[in-house]
Amino acid sequence: MAGAEVVAIQNRLLANLPRKDYLRLLPHLERVDLAYSEVLHEPHTRIRHIYFPNDSLISLLTSVENHRVAEVGLVGAEGIVGVPVVLGHLESPFLAVVQGGGTAMRMKASDLVRESVKSVALQRECFRFTHLLMAQIAQTAACNRFHVVTQRMARWLLTTRDRVNANQFRITHEFLARMLGVRRVGVTEAAGTLQKRKLISYSRGTVTILDAKGLTSAACGCYKTVKDLYRQAQAPRR
Ligand SMILES: [Zn+2]
Repeated sequence: MAGAEVVAIQNRLLANLPRKDYLRLLPHLERVDLAYSEVLHEPHTRIRHIYFPNDSLISLLTSVENHRVAEVGLVGAEGIVGVPVVLGHLESPFLAVVQGGGTAMRMKASDLVRESVKSVALQRECFRFTHLLMAQIAQTAACNRFHVVTQRMARWLLTTRDRVNANQFRITHEFLARMLGVRRVGVTEAAGTLQKRKLISYSRGTVTILDAKGLTSAACGCYKTVKDLYRQAQAPRR
């Protein structure tokens, strides 16, 4: 039933498309399950598929000297994993890793290239998200340079909480260290500081946010800046 299809659209970029544009994409979309830590795109490798996350959350990481990585962006239901394809590049500069397991709509990169030529609305939505992602990446670059690990961890935990809509989630020290671009010991110290202040509890790979307001005070202003950007982007459009 066509009506049911429209109701079931979880990805907001797809949901923002006019119905006729969405229906044209539908035969190319495949619902897939994404597992925590699954790699969707390797850097400097051809992108075969792009993803419109439903309830999954994808981290975009960039590497330095081929071994150290740090998160530069986070993509959820508001966007698309595979922005380079939209811009005419078939290779990803990022490592795209599933941070929160769930589902996504997958599409062949070649189909997106073909369909975005036919649909001005699809192009417009992809460009809007690209702009948002650029702003997020720029803010993250400044954050990594100017803010200390404890502030950045607080920001990261709050952002994840907002996206998964839960105060408790599983995350290993190793994964968090990769996201923040620090050594494990840096994560342990920062988590210890936040725990002592009773803002979080963190044991056996499970983080629980005990005091969201206090954690927001402990986070750098980048948390609010990016949150506001997303809120503006999601405001109803005329
Ligand atoms: Zn910051």
